[in-house]
Amino acid sequence: MSVQPDSECPKCRGRMQVGYLLERGHGDRRAAAAWIEGEPEPSFWQGLKTTGRDVFETRTYRCAKCGFLESYARVGIGD
Ligand SMILES: [Zn+2]
Repeated sequence: MSVQPDSECPKCRGRMQVGYLLERGHGDRRAAAAWIEGEPEPSFWQGLKTTGRDVFETRTYRCAKCGFLESYARVGIGD
């Protein structure tokens, strides 16, 4: 899935490569980090509560030259 074509680094004009920030969930399951609307709210059972919040899957672009990271949260994944 591509949410943004290859673009140019705003800092050094190097090439931006698509990737994602790894998040470890239940049973060390790997996932792409999600963007959650609002302030983090502690939940006794789940660490942080995300119920009723807007949740987006994210893609993070990395500059191959200087390492600058730029994230996009565009794909709603619900709760
Ligand atoms: Zn750069």
